Amino acid sequence: MALGLYVHIPFCSAICNYCNFNRGLFEGDLKNQYVAALREEIRRKGDQDAADTIFFGGGTPSLLDPAEVGAIIDTCRKSFAVSNDAEVTLEANPETITAEKLAAFRGAGVNRLSFGVQSFRDEELQRLSRLHSAARARDAFAMARAAGFDNVSLDLMMWLPGQSVEEWLMSVEGLVELGPEHASLYLLEIYPNAPLRDAMARGKWLVAAEDEAAEMYLQAMAALDAAGYEQYEISNVARPGRESRHNVKYWTDGEWLGFGCGAHSTRKGVREKNVASTTEYISLVAAEGQLTGESRRLTAQARLEEALFMGLRLTRGIDLAAMDARYDTDVWRGYGSELQPFVDQGLLIYDGAHLRLTRTGMLLANEVMAVFINSPVR
Ligand code: SF4
Repeated sequence: MALGLYVHIPFCSAICNYCNFNRGLFEGDLKNQYVAALREEIRRKGDQDAADTIFFGGGTPSLLDPAEVGAIIDTCRKSFAVSNDAEVTLEANPETITAEKLAAFRGAGVNRLSFGVQSFRDEELQRLSRLHSAARARDAFAMARAAGFDNVSLDLMMWLPGQSVEEWLMSVEGLVELGPEHASLYLLEIYPNAPLRDAMARGKWLVAAEDEAAEMYLQAMAALDAAGYEQYEISNVARPGRESRHNVKYWTDGEWLGFGCGAHSTRKGVREKNVASTTEYISLVAAEGQLTGESRRLTAQARLEEALFMGLRLTRGIDLAAMDARYDTDVWRGYGSELQPFVDQGLLIYDGAHLRLTRTGMLLANEVMAVFINSPVR
């Protein structure tokens, strides 16, 4: 399988009150140095291997100038055998773009946009300290269409503070009205020291009970089914043929290289993570130092476990014959006795050839996946 290339852009215009990603505030000089370092890392790691996706993630990649994005894509193309029809995705925040900028991103080689919309209700966007409004998100989507983007994804977040099931479904409806090719629905997880927790205490916003969160998920997926989307992963739906080629590599035991601070790579059975700090990353590239902060060779058992629990995230599930061919393991013989109770409860389907979660099973995916983690070697 061809490689995926991930490019991390760690800059944001403001820091959202729930965000736990590797990011910092935008500074022009730092950004210039960072882009130069990124291109250098890509050149150094380039080995002309086949790649068919490039993914700019962040942070807020749409804060880069289109010329910078173009230069990074160019460096990828010179360093790897990137296919002509490669999927090139840029994550974008609605408030950062203009019609001209989007046209220039497209001219630079970006062919897929992923907008962090999160909600189509202004009140919720404000609670999350996002900089855009619902109207701005709609405008951004219209601008993307006008610039010729025919492959657009929108992210929404559910289980927001103070959000009811009905209010969440308004955002889903807002998404369906726009009709993107792809959508990702995430459950907001509020980490222990998130500033959002203080805001919640001040605003007296509560999150809905867990059974309501389950309702949010199930009703949203039903609405997206009705609108002609196909769910292909726990949190992702797409029009037929518009699944994220890049992200599917993470779920199908693929290989990818990550560039930039904190970026992960998995290749030839080795998992690596670059140093997380932006300034340290820039200095290390300049000094030709070791960028890898963590590195470990995955054992055959670790690779199998990961292939199994990542594979279960996909609605098509795990192809047992393919697992046997790749890992010389009869998965059902190894794990069947622990999996059978989930089959009996209607959470998991085993048909002899595949193992896959039902939609209700997706709500309890972690419990099912736990069977595969740290099990004795089979
Ligand atoms: S824009 Fe995204 S990456 Fe940046 S702070 Fe907000 S949630 Fe985090």
